[in-house]
This record gives sequence, C-alpha cells and structure tokens, in this order.
Amino acid sequence: MALSNNQHLTILLFVVTFLLNFSSFHCKIWEELDFNSYHHYSDVNTLFKSYEKRFPTLAKVGSIGKSEEGRDLVYIQISDNVSVTEPGEPMFKYVGNIHGNEAVGRELIIYLTQYLLENYQLDARIKKLVDNTNIFLMPSANPDGFERAKLGVGGGRASDSCLGVQGRPNANNVDLNRNFPDQFRTHLNDPIQKETQALIKWIENNKFVLSANLHGGSVVASYPFDDSAKHIMAGHYSPAPDDAVFRHLALTYASNHKTMPAGNLCEGDNFKDGITNGADWYDVPGGMQDYNYLHSNCFEITVELSCCKYPPVSRLSTEWNNNKESLLSFMEQVHQGVKGYVRDEATGAGIENATISVAGINHPVTAAAFGDFWRLLVPGSYNLTFSAAGYDSKTLTQVVVTEGSATEVEVKLKKSLDLSLAAMLAKFANSTHRQPLPGLVEPTEFRHHDHVAMTKYLLEISQEFPHITKLSSIGKSVEGRDLWVLEISDKPGVHEEGEPEFKYIANMHGNEVVGRETLLPLIHVLCHNYGSQSFITKLVDETRIFIMPSMNPDGHEIATEGE
Ligand SMILES: [Zn+2]
Repeated sequence: MALSNNQHLTILLFVVTFLLNFSSFHCKIWEELDFNSYHHYSDVNTLFKSYEKRFPTLAKVGSIGKSEEGRDLVYIQISDNVSVTEPGEPMFKYVGNIHGNEAVGRELIIYLTQYLLENYQLDARIKKLVDNTNIFLMPSANPDGFERAKLGVGGGRASDSCLGVQGRPNANNVDLNRNFPDQFRTHLNDPIQKETQALIKWIENNKFVLSANLHGGSVVASYPFDDSAKHIMAGHYSPAPDDAVFRHLALTYASNHKTMPAGNLCEGDNFKDGITNGADWYDVPGGMQDYNYLHSNCFEITVELSCCKYPPVSRLSTEWNNNKESLLSFMEQVHQGVKGYVRDEATGAGIENATISVAGINHPVTAAAFGDFWRLLVPGSYNLTFSAAGYDSKTLTQVVVTEGSATEVEVKLKKSLDLSLAAMLAKFANSTHRQPLPGLVEPTEFRHHDHVAMTKYLLEISQEFPHITKLSSIGKSVEGRDLWVLEISDKPGVHEEGEPEFKYIANMHGNEVVGRETLLPLIHVLCHNYGSQSFITKLVDETRIFIMPSMNPDGHEIATEGE
C-alpha cells in the first residue's frame, strides 16, 4: 500500500517522538524520594523488605543483632549478585544514628538506598559503583534511642530540642559512641551494650575497607584518632598512622558537600575546610571510628551533618541535596590506593588473611577470602610487603599510587621450606625416642656457679647476644644480691602480638642447685644455636622466654656442696 506524503510525515514524527522519549527516559535520573516524614523503626523494615523484593539480585536485608529493647539493627546490602560474595569487590558501610537523636544521617542512608537501587539501570556511575562494591547501609545503630528522641522545632542551635540529648543514648542510658574499648583507656565506664557488641562483631568478622558514621550537631567531617593518651580535652591533634589517608577521606566528604567547606555553619564551629582531627576538636574515648581502624581493616570517619540534630521534616530535602555528592564520592574512595590478590605461587589459590604492610605506615591490613585486598593510600610511591604464615614474604618496591582508580598488583608467594614451629613440635611429639639435634652446640664445661660467677656468666652472654637477650634484675635479695632474669626472644623487651611468654624459675630453696645449674646450660644452648638450628630459632622468634636461674642467691651462698 502506497503512503501519502502526509502519512510519511506522520510516521516520521511518530518515530522521532518515540526516539526522543526513549532516550530522555534513559537519561533521566530517578529523584522521587519521600521527604514527607521521618522513617521510624517499622517504616524502615517495611521499606527495605519492599526493595529486597523489587530488586532481588541487588538488595538483601539483614540484621547484625538486637538492641537492648529487642529491635533489630537492620542493614541493607547492595551489590550486583548480592547473594554471592564476588572476588575483588571491597566492602563499604555507612552507619547512621548511633546517637538516637541525631536523625539526619538515618534519613540520608534511607534516601541513598533508594537512590542507588532506583538509578542502577539509569545512571552509569551508580551502576559502576554497585557492580564493583559490596555496600552495607545501616540507617540506625541505636533504634531504641531514636524512638525516644524528640523532633527539634527550630532550624539551628537557637532551639533547645535541636541540641537536646533525649534519645542520644540507648535504652540503658549509655552513650554507644563512648562504649567501645579504647586504646587509651583501660576501663569502660559502662558494660558493653548489646548494640556495641553487635557492631564490634560485625566490624571484626568482616573485611570492611571504608566506612563513615553519621552524626549531627555540627557540620564537619572528623577523622581518627578521637582521643589521646593524656585525654587532653581539646586542641590536641592525635594523628593515626594513616593520617594522610584520613585527611584525604574527610576532605573528599567535606569538599563535595554544598555547605560543609565553610566550617563555621553552626554556633561555635570553626573548622578549616570543614574537616578536623577528632581529638583536636574534643577528646572522645570509646568511639566507633577508632575501634574500626584499630581492630579491623576498616578506615572510618565521623561526619556531622546538621546543626540541628533532629530538624523539622521540611529540612530533609535540603540535607539530601547538600550531602548527595559527598555520599557518592566518599563511597568511590574505596577504590583508591592499591588493590589486588595475594596467591599461592604453586596453586594460584588466594591466601586469606595474608598481611599487606606499607613501609613507614604502622597499619597492616589483611586479605579477604579470595586473597583479594585493598590498601587505601593517597598518591605517592610505596614499598609494600606481603606475608602469610607458611610462606616466604615478598616486597614490592616503588609501587606508584595515582589519583583515581587503584593500582592493581598480583602477588604470588612461595611456600616456605622451613617447617613451622607447630609442625616441628608435632614431629618431636610423634617420634618414639628423641634423637639429639645434629650439629647442636652444647656447653662443654659443667661446674657450680656462685653468685659472682653466675652474674659474670649472665653479663657475658647478654653482651655476646645483645639482639636476642635482655638481662635485668627484678629486685634485690635481703642481703642485696640481684635477682637476675634473662629474657631470650627475637625482640627482647618488646611484647609482640601473638607471642606467648614463658618463664623458668630455679633455686628458690638455696640449697637445691640442680635447676640453677641446668638453666645456665639451657641459656647457652638457646643463644649459641639461634640462627643455625631452625627449631631453636623459631622457638626464640615466636616466644618470649624468661629465665631466672636463682630466686634465692643468699641461700645459695651458705649452702654446702655435697649435702
Ligand atoms: Zn553524635
């Protein structure tokens, strides 16, 4: 059938209109967020469940445990193939509302959830982020507190309820962000709460790489450490070993925020570029961000979002617009630094828990289940050492980190030929009779040592082997003789993580001398065979050995040989 010119035109217009609509549909970023009310506990659960149902491959709802009043500490996990842990995808988290009355972060995390899921198919940036990251979003770490909190009436600090503390702590009236074990505090003011315990387990049992913990009451991005050994109230900068990385992370959040860079939005605030070291602002012992850094791979910062902690609903859309770019840019930082795999050279299998250390930064991180690892670093050149139990370590020098995506490395470790100490001990335990170690250096002269001779012997051996011994006196006897203790270890005087301490004490009864005269040859054997006998080397490397040949030197001096 022939078409008239008019009909041709109509069809052409239809096609053009269709194409325009189609392409505009594909460019449109979804923005229909519900800013009309705060989401209470049951609202969050209902909403998250509905997202899990609508996006079964992208979203999964979970709980890390219960609050003191039995509410779930709910999170939503967002990633492509969310039910499968995929190699090479770093774990990221946002945690809101640990102070129950600081409610803006709670809502922002809910908006972010919707934004990521609804835009996944529409926005290439969001798709890339979700496809390559294992994202965990927890709107509230203190749901009991939030249900007690009171909505503020003003827009700033003028209103008391904006600054109030009702709902800040949990149901037991404990401030959860002071409830974590702290490096500079030996005791806790309160028992560890259920919420804190659940967070600790979550932090320690997962290989999170990056996190932020969202608060209110100021507008600033704050980074570790949050306190110092002397707990100076304020104005004392307490840097973490990764201070440069933390400054970069805080600046990423602040500089992408619509108002945070001013640094003086709320009464009393004065933060250059909108960031601060936690302790420099004020001393916070027991906070969550330091706990993350000190007890896991995770780098966490604390972000204060608004002057009013629980502002009127009318404020929420502004807060979302102020923070949207910050929230996304900060997440993208999880892909900055060095990443890759640590593998067994022979089998190619990933080595879980392999250690990645950066020269000059005392903060090793460990590899995840597939041997995959992420070490956040600012641009520069670094020497990285990779090690794992049972393998020879390997160092990569001058690994260059640039702005943007992470530098990728693949490291293959060779199985160590040396047996582990445990394997050696097992071999000894299984042998029916013990053969002397071939080549073992043993003392040739055996005699009694009085206090002067013993002191001379201990001084000489500690001078001959200064790198593995440390001689000290733990005090004096009644007659003023030193009570000598010789420590033998690879780093004498230093307690190394995971190294047990052992002691032998002899000659408590001054006339019982066999122990005393056996420990002196033992010292000889340990020192003279270190470095040549692998069993003794490992024993000394992996143990702090303390030897006290005489606990009663006065008694020994008046004891008689042959009695
Ligand atoms: Zn707070």
